[in-house]
Amino acid sequence: MNTAPRTPPRLRAEIDLDALRGNVRALRARASGAELMAVVKADAYGHGALPCARAARQAGASWLGTATPEEALALRAGGDRGRVLCWLWTPGGPWAEAVAEDIDVSASGRWALDEITAAALRTGRTARVHLKADTGLGRNGCQPADWADLVAAAREAEASGLVQVTGVWSHFACADEPGHPSIAAQLAAFGEALGAAERAGLRPEVRHMANSPATLTLPASHFDLVRPGVSVYGLSPSPEVGVPEDFGLRPAMTLVAALAQVKEVPGGHGVSYGHSYTTPGPTTLALVPAGYADGIPRHASNTGPVLVAGKPRTVAGRIAMDQFVVDLGGDRAAVGDEAVLFGPGDRGEPTAEDWARAAGTIGYEIITRIGPRVPRLYAGE
Ligand SMILES: *Cc1c(COP(=O)(O)O)cnc(C)c1O
Repeated sequence: MNTAPRTPPRLRAEIDLDALRGNVRALRARASGAELMAVVKADAYGHGALPCARAARQAGASWLGTATPEEALALRAGGDRGRVLCWLWTPGGPWAEAVAEDIDVSASGRWALDEITAAALRTGRTARVHLKADTGLGRNGCQPADWADLVAAAREAEASGLVQVTGVWSHFACADEPGHPSIAAQLAAFGEALGAAERAGLRPEVRHMANSPATLTLPASHFDLVRPGVSVYGLSPSPEVGVPEDFGLRPAMTLVAALAQVKEVPGGHGVSYGHSYTTPGPTTLALVPAGYADGIPRHASNTGPVLVAGKPRTVAGRIAMDQFVVDLGGDRAAVGDEAVLFGPGDRGEPTAEDWARAAGTIGYEIITRIGPRVPRLYAGE
């Protein structure tokens, strides 16, 4: 029996899995020569890792990608048996558990390869490893000066039967700015890294580099596998790249609150902490029970958009931990009415991109930070 309360939740994130499947299919069509890894790190960018992983698989994602090994192990615990790669490791990480669970792991340096080899020895299984090259991002990945040493060591570990190099990969710095000179430079550096791996005797099953913007705009980056994340959830990676509809993408998350109070106030009434908003005249205030503890950015105080009583409105005053206020002007609403913070945008509601602009951030951060206090309700499961 479902014991969930029948009243609508204070605040809910509706996740449209049909939209997610459609997005995966649209991305596969754009990169038809490559396999697709749906990136489901950070609880599938806030959408819920397991339901999204299942939907992505149904739409043809032959790989799933996570940042942390814990996220990858949670996919296995949830029943996923397909190929999974996780890439963000620290010394002493659960290498043996990952190898035992048939998870592909990543190494950006010798310390990682050494820990992987030791874990393979302990578990009695061959570890599948993707070697990561820093082709210019300057974040994770092996520097060109250390690459020859890493690929030689990996080849030696292969010869001992402990390791199989299944992937060589890298990550872009500026793929969301089409035409940025670093893009061509990184592709060239990746070519060099692949050449060195080949000369060392490595024969990786997949070479991969493309995140969402590269998957959408840069066919030369597709290689054997593409790794889209944010576009799987229907967002465009940046306004420069385009809007979701340009690519047949549809945002999968709609964030809806039930108004917790509606009241008449006189003009000159201060609103919320610090009184950074004052009612310009007698008006109606609606209380939206969502705040920064739920992931609503406080930086969007007095700027965040929200659809209430059929009209787009703006947050009035500060966004608090659990609540914010909207000035309805002359309009009416009832307690319990819906306030739509963001969604696909086709019912007049704002989008996550609109919130990103209001808060001075990116759409990625808006969806990913929606917190664990917000129930996810799935359609299309
Ligand atoms: C997050 C991430 C991706 C996906 O990036 P999007 O821009 O969301 O498509 C791909 N690869 C790596 C290494 C990542 O960390």
